[in-house]
Amino acid sequence: MTVSSALVLFSGGQDSTVCLASALQRYDRVETVGFHYGQRHAVELEARQRVLEALRAKFPQWAAKLGDDHMLTLPALGAISDTSLTRDTEIQMSASGLPTTFVPGRNLLFFTYAAALGWRRGLSTLVGGMCETDYSGYPDCRNDTLQTLAKALSLGLDASVTIETPLMYIDKAGTWALAHELGGDALVDLIVEDTHTCYLGDRTHRHAWGYGCGTCPACDLRANGWAQWRGGELAD
Ligand code: ZN
Repeated sequence: MTVSSALVLFSGGQDSTVCLASALQRYDRVETVGFHYGQRHAVELEARQRVLEALRAKFPQWAAKLGDDHMLTLPALGAISDTSLTRDTEIQMSASGLPTTFVPGRNLLFFTYAAALGWRRGLSTLVGGMCETDYSGYPDCRNDTLQTLAKALSLGLDASVTIETPLMYIDKAGTWALAHELGGDALVDLIVEDTHTCYLGDRTHRHAWGYGCGTCPACDLRANGWAQWRGGELAD
């Protein structure tokens, strides 16, 4: 019997946690990779460990499949980015119409490193939480970009590389709904309690949808998605 396997790009945020759950549901062996590139907030990196521990503790059927976690340090990415995620500048929309949280080409680099790591680990399916429906329109989150990259990586590694993005065409309400479908209330509670999305790294304010400042674009998306999903749930 062949063992199916995947490598999940995992940041400790809501989206990548749902992607990880989705991979654990579908594959026999799943490893995770995270990137440290000078993010302003250690909060994100702490969330990764907390979420992995919680998944292991609360979902024994997934714990058996969850393998090694890898952390790659990419300081060059922080050095060449003048953005709100890595520096103390205010989050706003830039002249190009992209928010200042944009790190140019970030996902291209992440997937390229993940593919190289996967090659060594025998993991040819890469899973990421990129999504075209977010307000932000990051060009490196587009399906075309990522599927073309998968083709380039397959050629460059002379091995088939697949990139899966389970959230590509669903919105934040859909992400909550998918979490519930995959792991019920237990997974929704885990995401609320343990994941982190707030751009400001705020873990002092607890809302129904989790921790965060409540006003940054990431909190806005998460809160609106939650309200929409809960509204739909109550209407059913
Ligand atoms: Zn926030």
